Amino acid sequence: MELSCKVQEYDWGKKGSQSAVAQLLKKRNLDVKIDECKPYAELWMGTHVNAPSVIKETGELLSDYIDKNPKVLGEKVAEIFNNQLPFLFKILSVNKALSIQAHPTKQHAIELNKKFPDIYKDPNHKPEMAIALTPFEAMCGFRNPREIREFITHLPELENITRSKDEADDVKFLEKSFRAILTCEKDLVAKTIESLKTRFANLETCERDKYLSSLLDKLNSQFPNDNGVLMVYFLNYIKLQPSEAIYLAANKPHAYIYGDCVEMMASSDNVVRAGLTPKLRDVQTLLTMLDYTEDLTQDNRFKPQVENEYTTLYKPPVQEFAVVRIKLPKSIRKYIIPKRDSASIIIVIDGTGKSVDKEVVPGLILFLAAEEVLEIIEVYSESILMYQGFTNVE
Ligand SMILES: [Zn+2]
Repeated sequence: MELSCKVQEYDWGKKGSQSAVAQLLKKRNLDVKIDECKPYAELWMGTHVNAPSVIKETGELLSDYIDKNPKVLGEKVAEIFNNQLPFLFKILSVNKALSIQAHPTKQHAIELNKKFPDIYKDPNHKPEMAIALTPFEAMCGFRNPREIREFITHLPELENITRSKDEADDVKFLEKSFRAILTCEKDLVAKTIESLKTRFANLETCERDKYLSSLLDKLNSQFPNDNGVLMVYFLNYIKLQPSEAIYLAANKPHAYIYGDCVEMMASSDNVVRAGLTPKLRDVQTLLTMLDYTEDLTQDNRFKPQVENEYTTLYKPPVQEFAVVRIKLPKSIRKYIIPKRDSASIIIVIDGTGKSVDKEVVPGLILFLAAEEVLEIIEVYSESILMYQGFTNVE
């Protein structure tokens, strides 16, 4: 069944036809007019009440259809997730940094929802995964304390805020530095950013310093004198190439900076924000929930598994979701996409071809019941690229 999915026009989105969201929309629906002044930030594929998908042919909400036919979810999913589709699948087009944030654990989400129901509206956790469609920049996880100590030593402006230089224990050091930056008075943040800019303007510096100062400039132009701007020295900066991914488990600080990606998450809206945002900040909650003891030496890129020569699996350690990247070459005559035990949503990103009963074009979004298969019988273009989201219950 083909789905019609909704676009969210958040102001941080890429504008007009620059946006992958707008491009996909246009390629599937040639009569759609793209407004070049409007941000096309997110495309939502799923049943979340804030932008629920609709079955194109009948106009029925996918959520209503699932309510009436819970079997389509697959037996295990229906049982574990109480007859609900447990994931929300998205395309994101990021032009301006999204807030510095982390997502609570399930237990913490229940507590937050009970205590502050107006802010944390559901009792669910929100693990998420981003898979790059274009080079994709983000901040993700703490930097190694060794590296932060190095910054603090050669940039006295930072130590002036953190006063953490003499803290020998890495966990305490990280906690103290992070807290100091995020709770620092606005005037001092402004002064610090100004001083760092002057320092770098007058100094011969290494590549890394140059890069970080340009990132500092960029974030500061988007969110002038925001505490979050200084996070460039405390969080890992990562640039993903297409098909590379990051997985954001509970309590991991992160912020998307620029680019287009496929995003997958548990169906929840629980975000604890602490910087680079006009939205509500809950700095105290964020500071107490972060995991300062995590292994900081590992690479933040998520390692997918090759399933077969055409499919690559991204399976995080949560039940709500998994994603598979499907790339079919022109030479293929007939290909049946591997069957999943759960309902799934497929989006065609690139390339054209034909399935048994449909023309395959970019922007085509299909809902498949559990055990249902999609059979591609011809690939017209060089290749076809698709992403499929499903539930990780196999
Ligand atoms: Zn997030």
